[in-house]
Amino acid sequence: MNTSMQAVRYLGPKQNFELRAVAIPSPGPGQARVKIAACGVCRTELHLRDGLLDLGRRDFTVGHEIAGTIDAVGEGVRAERIGQRVVVYYYEGCGDCRYCREGDEQLCPAPASQPGFTSDGGYAEYIVVRARNCVALPPEIPLSQAAPLGCAGSTAVHAGKLARLVPGAWAVIHGFGGVGMATLQYAASCGARTIAIGLGAARLQAAREMGATAVIDAAATPDVAADVATLTGEGADAVFDLVGTSASMGASAAMLRRRGRLVLIGYTADLFSIHPVALIVREIAVLGSVGSTLGDLHDAVDLVARGLMRPVIDRTMRLADFAEALAAVEAQDLTGRIVLTP
Ligand SMILES: [Zn+2]
Ligand SMILES: [Zn+2]
Repeated sequence: MNTSMQAVRYLGPKQNFELRAVAIPSPGPGQARVKIAACGVCRTELHLRDGLLDLGRRDFTVGHEIAGTIDAVGEGVRAERIGQRVVVYYYEGCGDCRYCREGDEQLCPAPASQPGFTSDGGYAEYIVVRARNCVALPPEIPLSQAAPLGCAGSTAVHAGKLARLVPGAWAVIHGFGGVGMATLQYAASCGARTIAIGLGAARLQAAREMGATAVIDAAATPDVAADVATLTGEGADAVFDLVGTSASMGASAAMLRRRGRLVLIGYTADLFSIHPVALIVREIAVLGSVGSTLGDLHDAVDLVARGLMRPVIDRTMRLADFAEALAAVEAQDLTGRIVLTP
Protein backbone atom coordinates (compact mmCIF):
# COMPACT_ATOMS: atom_id res chain seq x y z
CA MET A 1 0.00 0.00 0.00
CA ASN A 2 1.10 3.56 -0.67
CA THR A 3 2.30 5.50 2.34
CA SER A 4 1.26 8.92 1.04
CA MET A 5 -1.94 10.38 -0.37
CA GLN A 6 -3.23 13.57 -1.92
CA ALA A 7 -5.00 15.99 0.41
CA VAL A 8 -6.30 19.55 0.13
CA ARG A 9 -4.72 21.61 2.87
CA TYR A 10 -5.80 24.74 4.71
CA LEU A 11 -2.69 26.75 5.50
CA GLY A 12 -4.23 29.84 7.05
CA PRO A 13 -6.91 32.51 6.59
CA LYS A 14 -7.03 34.39 3.29
CA GLN A 15 -4.86 31.80 1.55
CA ASN A 16 -5.95 29.43 -1.17
CA PHE A 17 -6.05 25.76 -0.26
CA GLU A 18 -3.25 23.61 -1.69
CA LEU A 19 -3.20 20.03 -2.92
CA ARG A 20 -0.29 18.30 -1.20
CA ALA A 21 1.05 14.83 -0.56
CA VAL A 22 0.67 13.80 3.09
CA ALA A 23 1.16 10.56 4.99
CA ILE A 24 -1.74 8.10 5.06
CA PRO A 25 -2.80 8.03 8.73
CA SER A 26 -3.03 4.87 10.85
CA PRO A 27 -5.84 4.36 13.38
CA GLY A 28 -4.96 4.54 17.07
CA PRO A 29 -6.95 3.05 19.97
CA GLY A 30 -10.69 3.57 19.52
CA GLN A 31 -10.25 4.88 16.00
CA ALA A 32 -11.15 3.74 12.51
CA ARG A 33 -9.61 4.62 9.17
CA VAL A 34 -12.06 5.42 6.39
CA LYS A 35 -11.12 5.06 2.74
CA ILE A 36 -12.96 8.10 1.44
CA ALA A 37 -15.30 7.62 -1.51
CA ALA A 38 -16.89 11.07 -1.52
CA CYS A 39 -16.64 14.39 0.29
CA GLY A 40 -19.22 17.14 -0.11
CA VAL A 41 -18.21 20.75 -0.66
CA CYS A 42 -19.75 23.05 1.96
CA ARG A 43 -19.89 26.84 1.95
CA THR A 44 -17.97 26.70 5.23
CA GLU A 45 -14.84 25.89 3.22
CA LEU A 46 -15.17 29.35 1.66
CA HIS A 47 -15.54 30.89 5.13
CA LEU A 48 -12.32 29.17 6.22
CA ARG A 49 -10.45 30.22 3.10
CA ASP A 50 -11.67 33.82 3.39
CA GLY A 51 -10.87 34.09 7.11
CA LEU A 52 -14.51 34.55 8.20
CA LEU A 53 -14.17 31.36 10.25
CA ASP A 54 -10.84 30.90 12.01
CA LEU A 55 -10.62 28.36 14.83
CA GLY A 56 -6.91 29.02 15.30
CA ARG A 57 -5.44 25.88 13.80
CA ARG A 58 -3.31 25.82 10.65
CA ASP A 59 -2.12 23.24 8.16
CA PHE A 60 -4.84 20.60 8.12
CA THR A 61 -6.98 18.90 5.47
CA VAL A 62 -10.37 20.56 4.90
CA GLY A 63 -13.72 18.87 4.21
CA HIS A 64 -16.34 17.61 6.64
CA GLU A 65 -19.04 15.83 4.55
CA ILE A 66 -17.31 12.50 4.41
CA ALA A 67 -18.47 9.07 3.29
CA GLY A 68 -16.42 5.98 2.65
CA THR A 69 -15.56 2.48 3.78
CA ILE A 70 -13.71 1.52 6.96
CA ASP A 71 -10.49 -0.20 5.89
CA ALA A 72 -8.58 -0.43 9.20
CA VAL A 73 -9.39 -0.17 12.90
CA GLY A 74 -7.33 0.53 16.00
CA GLU A 75 -7.18 -1.25 19.33
CA GLY A 76 -10.52 -1.68 21.03
CA VAL A 77 -12.59 -1.43 17.84
CA ARG A 78 -14.40 -4.52 16.57
CA ALA A 79 -12.63 -5.95 13.53
CA GLU A 80 -16.04 -6.66 11.97
CA ARG A 81 -16.32 -2.95 11.29
CA ILE A 82 -13.72 -3.27 8.51
CA GLY A 83 -15.62 -3.09 5.22
CA GLN A 84 -18.52 -1.13 6.73
CA ARG A 85 -19.83 1.76 4.62
CA VAL A 86 -20.12 4.87 6.75
CA VAL A 87 -20.76 8.59 6.90
CA VAL A 88 -18.56 10.51 9.35
CA TYR A 89 -19.73 12.73 12.22
CA TYR A 90 -17.24 15.58 12.40
CA TYR A 91 -17.23 16.56 16.08
CA GLU A 92 -15.13 14.71 18.64
CA GLY A 93 -16.00 16.34 21.96
CA CYS A 94 -13.98 16.04 25.16
CA GLY A 95 -16.55 13.57 26.53
CA ASP A 96 -16.55 15.12 30.01
CA CYS A 97 -18.19 18.55 29.82
CA ARG A 98 -21.87 19.26 30.44
CA TYR A 99 -22.52 19.49 26.68
CA CYS A 100 -20.80 16.23 25.78
CA ARG A 101 -22.66 14.50 28.62
CA GLU A 102 -25.93 15.57 26.99
CA GLY A 103 -24.76 14.53 23.52
CA ASP A 104 -24.23 18.10 22.32
CA GLU A 105 -20.66 17.59 21.15
CA GLN A 106 -21.08 20.46 18.66
CA LEU A 107 -21.08 22.79 21.69
CA CYS A 108 -18.09 21.26 23.49
CA PRO A 109 -15.78 24.11 24.55
CA ALA A 110 -12.67 21.89 24.37
CA PRO A 111 -13.22 19.34 21.59
CA ALA A 112 -10.57 16.68 21.09
CA SER A 113 -10.78 17.32 17.36
CA GLN A 114 -13.05 18.63 14.66
CA PRO A 115 -12.18 17.05 11.30
CA GLY A 116 -12.15 19.61 8.51
CA PHE A 117 -12.15 22.54 10.96
CA THR A 118 -9.23 21.98 13.36
CA SER A 119 -7.89 18.58 12.30
CA ASP A 120 -7.58 16.56 9.10
CA GLY A 121 -10.84 16.28 7.16
CA GLY A 122 -12.18 14.65 4.05
CA TYR A 123 -10.66 16.32 0.98
CA ALA A 124 -8.28 13.36 0.91
CA GLU A 125 -8.08 9.67 0.21
CA TYR A 126 -8.22 8.52 3.85
CA ILE A 127 -9.21 9.88 7.23
CA VAL A 128 -8.79 8.55 10.76
CA VAL A 129 -11.58 9.37 13.23
CA ARG A 130 -13.05 8.08 16.47
CA ALA A 131 -14.79 4.82 15.50
CA ARG A 132 -18.08 5.87 17.10
CA ASN A 133 -18.18 8.85 14.71
CA CYS A 134 -18.52 6.42 11.80
CA VAL A 135 -22.26 6.02 11.25
CA ALA A 136 -23.12 2.83 9.34
CA LEU A 137 -25.11 3.23 6.14
CA PRO A 138 -27.87 0.88 5.01
CA PRO A 139 -27.25 -0.71 1.57
CA GLU A 140 -29.84 1.50 -0.18
CA ILE A 141 -27.81 4.69 0.40
CA PRO A 142 -24.88 5.07 -2.06
CA LEU A 143 -21.72 6.67 -0.69
CA SER A 144 -21.96 9.70 -3.00
CA GLN A 145 -25.49 10.37 -1.69
CA ALA A 146 -24.39 9.80 1.89
CA ALA A 147 -21.60 12.39 1.93
CA PRO A 148 -23.88 15.47 2.15
CA LEU A 149 -25.64 13.95 5.15
CA GLY A 150 -22.44 14.56 7.13
CA CYS A 151 -23.12 18.30 7.21
CA ALA A 152 -26.12 19.42 5.13
CA GLY A 153 -28.44 16.61 6.21
CA SER A 154 -27.50 16.49 9.88
CA THR A 155 -27.45 20.30 10.16
CA ALA A 156 -31.00 20.39 8.81
CA VAL A 157 -32.20 17.80 11.33
CA HIS A 158 -30.55 19.70 14.18
CA ALA A 159 -31.96 23.08 13.15
CA GLY A 160 -35.39 21.55 12.59
CA LYS A 161 -35.40 20.11 16.11
CA LEU A 162 -34.41 23.50 17.57
CA ALA A 163 -37.33 25.07 15.70
CA ARG A 164 -39.74 22.57 17.33
CA LEU A 165 -41.68 22.00 14.13
CA VAL A 166 -45.12 20.49 14.56
CA PRO A 167 -47.62 19.25 11.96
CA GLY A 168 -49.29 22.14 10.17
CA ALA A 169 -46.69 24.72 11.23
CA TRP A 170 -45.43 27.08 8.54
CA ALA A 171 -41.68 26.74 8.00
CA VAL A 172 -39.81 29.13 5.73
CA ILE A 173 -36.48 28.07 4.27
CA HIS A 174 -34.76 31.34 3.44
CA GLY A 175 -31.90 30.38 1.12
CA PHE A 176 -32.15 27.23 -0.94
CA GLY A 177 -28.72 25.62 -1.25
CA GLY A 178 -27.68 22.20 0.06
CA VAL A 179 -28.67 22.82 3.69
CA GLY A 180 -31.86 24.57 2.61
CA MET A 181 -32.96 21.59 0.54
CA ALA A 182 -32.33 19.22 3.43
CA THR A 183 -34.15 21.56 5.83
CA LEU A 184 -37.20 21.69 3.57
CA GLN A 185 -37.29 17.91 3.41
CA TYR A 186 -36.89 17.59 7.17
CA ALA A 187 -39.62 20.18 7.83
CA ALA A 188 -41.96 18.34 5.46
CA SER A 189 -41.20 15.05 7.25
CA CYS A 190 -42.40 16.75 10.46
CA GLY A 191 -45.69 17.59 8.78
CA ALA A 192 -44.89 21.28 8.44
CA ARG A 193 -46.05 23.40 5.52
CA THR A 194 -42.99 24.74 3.74
CA ILE A 195 -42.06 27.88 1.81
CA ALA A 196 -38.73 27.94 -0.03
CA ILE A 197 -37.21 31.33 -0.80
CA GLY A 198 -34.40 31.13 -3.31
CA LEU A 199 -32.73 32.42 -6.42
CA GLY A 200 -32.96 30.85 -9.83
CA ALA A 201 -35.59 28.83 -11.65
CA ALA A 202 -33.70 25.53 -11.30
CA ARG A 203 -33.50 25.68 -7.52
CA LEU A 204 -37.12 26.74 -7.13
CA GLN A 205 -38.22 23.95 -9.46
CA ALA A 206 -36.25 21.56 -7.23
CA ALA A 207 -38.14 22.97 -4.23
CA ARG A 208 -41.47 22.29 -5.93
CA GLU A 209 -40.36 18.74 -6.76
CA MET A 210 -39.48 18.23 -3.08
CA GLY A 211 -43.04 19.11 -2.18
CA ALA A 212 -42.67 22.72 -1.05
CA THR A 213 -46.10 24.17 -0.27
CA ALA A 214 -45.00 27.41 -1.98
CA VAL A 215 -41.87 28.92 -3.47
CA ILE A 216 -40.78 32.57 -3.66
CA ASP A 217 -38.24 33.83 -6.18
CA ALA A 218 -36.20 36.31 -4.14
CA ALA A 219 -35.07 38.08 -7.31
CA ALA A 220 -38.62 38.65 -8.56
CA THR A 221 -40.31 40.19 -5.53
CA PRO A 222 -39.72 43.48 -3.74
CA ASP A 223 -40.68 42.16 -0.30
CA VAL A 224 -40.33 38.47 0.59
CA ALA A 225 -41.76 39.05 4.09
CA ALA A 226 -44.97 40.47 2.61
CA ASP A 227 -45.22 37.45 0.32
CA VAL A 228 -44.88 35.10 3.31
CA ALA A 229 -47.57 37.06 5.16
CA THR A 230 -49.89 36.64 2.19
CA LEU A 231 -49.24 32.89 2.01
CA THR A 232 -49.48 32.15 5.73
CA GLY A 233 -52.09 34.59 6.99
CA GLU A 234 -50.12 35.89 9.95
CA GLY A 235 -46.57 34.77 9.36
CA ALA A 236 -44.31 31.73 9.72
CA ASP A 237 -43.93 29.62 12.84
CA ALA A 238 -40.26 29.13 12.03
CA VAL A 239 -37.82 30.73 9.60
CA PHE A 240 -34.48 29.13 8.82
CA ASP A 241 -32.06 31.79 7.56
CA LEU A 242 -29.35 30.20 5.43
CA VAL A 243 -28.30 33.40 3.68
CA GLY A 244 -26.95 35.43 6.58
CA THR A 245 -26.95 38.89 5.07
CA SER A 246 -28.33 41.92 6.93
CA ALA A 247 -31.14 42.06 4.38
CA SER A 248 -32.06 38.38 4.61
CA MET A 249 -32.00 38.28 8.41
CA GLY A 250 -34.10 41.45 8.68
CA ALA A 251 -36.66 39.98 6.30
CA SER A 252 -36.58 36.63 8.12
CA ALA A 253 -37.41 38.31 11.43
CA ALA A 254 -40.20 40.29 9.78
CA MET A 255 -41.92 37.24 8.30
CA LEU A 256 -42.52 35.43 11.61
CA ARG A 257 -45.84 35.21 13.38
CA ARG A 258 -46.07 36.06 17.09
CA ARG A 259 -44.03 33.54 19.14
CA GLY A 260 -42.23 32.57 15.92
CA ARG A 261 -38.69 31.18 15.98
CA LEU A 262 -35.89 32.55 13.83
CA VAL A 263 -33.13 29.99 13.37
CA LEU A 264 -29.84 31.42 12.09
CA ILE A 265 -27.63 28.91 10.26
CA GLY A 266 -25.90 30.72 7.38
CA TYR A 267 -23.67 33.72 7.83
CA THR A 268 -21.61 36.26 5.93
CA ALA A 269 -19.55 39.20 7.16
CA ASP A 270 -22.83 41.10 7.78
CA LEU A 271 -24.30 41.97 11.17
CA PHE A 272 -27.83 41.15 12.31
CA SER A 273 -29.40 44.30 13.70
CA ILE A 274 -32.96 44.71 14.83
CA HIS A 275 -34.79 47.00 17.23
CA PRO A 276 -35.66 44.96 20.33
CA VAL A 277 -39.27 46.07 20.29
CA ALA A 278 -39.76 44.06 17.09
CA LEU A 279 -38.85 40.95 19.10
CA ILE A 280 -40.41 41.96 22.43
CA VAL A 281 -43.96 42.75 21.43
CA ARG A 282 -44.23 39.60 19.31
CA GLU A 283 -42.23 37.37 21.72
CA ILE A 284 -39.92 36.28 18.92
CA ALA A 285 -37.16 33.77 19.71
CA VAL A 286 -33.85 34.07 17.86
CA LEU A 287 -31.71 30.94 17.89
CA GLY A 288 -28.34 30.00 16.49
CA SER A 289 -27.89 26.48 15.16
CA VAL A 290 -24.45 24.99 14.63
CA GLY A 291 -23.74 21.59 13.11
CA SER A 292 -25.45 18.67 14.77
CA THR A 293 -25.23 15.98 17.38
CA LEU A 294 -24.16 12.44 16.53
CA GLY A 295 -27.80 11.47 17.12
CA ASP A 296 -28.95 14.00 14.51
CA LEU A 297 -26.68 12.35 11.93
CA HIS A 298 -28.09 8.92 12.81
CA ASP A 299 -31.57 10.42 12.37
CA ALA A 300 -30.63 11.92 8.97
CA VAL A 301 -29.39 8.52 7.75
CA ASP A 302 -32.62 6.93 8.98
CA LEU A 303 -34.77 9.55 7.22
CA VAL A 304 -32.95 8.94 3.93
CA ALA A 305 -33.28 5.18 4.32
CA ARG A 306 -37.03 5.65 4.81
CA GLY A 307 -37.31 7.89 1.74
CA LEU A 308 -38.24 10.99 3.76
CA MET A 309 -35.04 12.87 2.86
CA ARG A 310 -33.03 12.65 -0.34
CA PRO A 311 -29.65 14.36 -0.73
CA VAL A 312 -29.42 16.38 -3.93
CA ILE A 313 -26.12 16.17 -5.79
CA ASP A 314 -25.49 18.84 -8.42
CA ARG A 315 -22.37 17.15 -9.74
CA THR A 316 -19.42 14.95 -8.85
CA MET A 317 -15.89 16.25 -9.42
CA ARG A 318 -12.34 14.98 -8.93
CA LEU A 319 -10.59 15.95 -5.70
CA ALA A 320 -7.83 17.60 -7.75
CA ASP A 321 -10.47 19.97 -9.18
CA PHE A 322 -11.37 21.32 -5.74
CA ALA A 323 -10.64 24.95 -6.71
CA GLU A 324 -13.15 24.76 -9.55
CA ALA A 325 -15.68 23.22 -7.16
CA LEU A 326 -15.22 26.04 -4.65
CA ALA A 327 -15.62 28.62 -7.42
CA ALA A 328 -18.93 27.01 -8.39
CA VAL A 329 -20.15 27.14 -4.77
CA GLU A 330 -19.12 30.80 -4.61
CA ALA A 331 -20.97 31.56 -7.85
CA GLN A 332 -24.18 30.14 -6.28
CA ASP A 333 -25.30 28.50 -9.51
CA LEU A 334 -25.67 25.00 -8.06
CA THR A 335 -28.73 22.90 -7.44
CA GLY A 336 -27.59 20.78 -4.52
CA ARG A 337 -24.15 19.71 -3.44
CA ILE A 338 -20.89 19.17 -5.28
CA VAL A 339 -19.26 15.94 -4.20
CA LEU A 340 -15.51 15.38 -4.60
CA THR A 341 -14.10 11.93 -5.26
CA PRO A 342 -10.43 11.12 -4.62
ZN1 LIG B 1 -20.75 22.13 6.32
ZN1 LIG C 1 -17.00 18.36 25.87
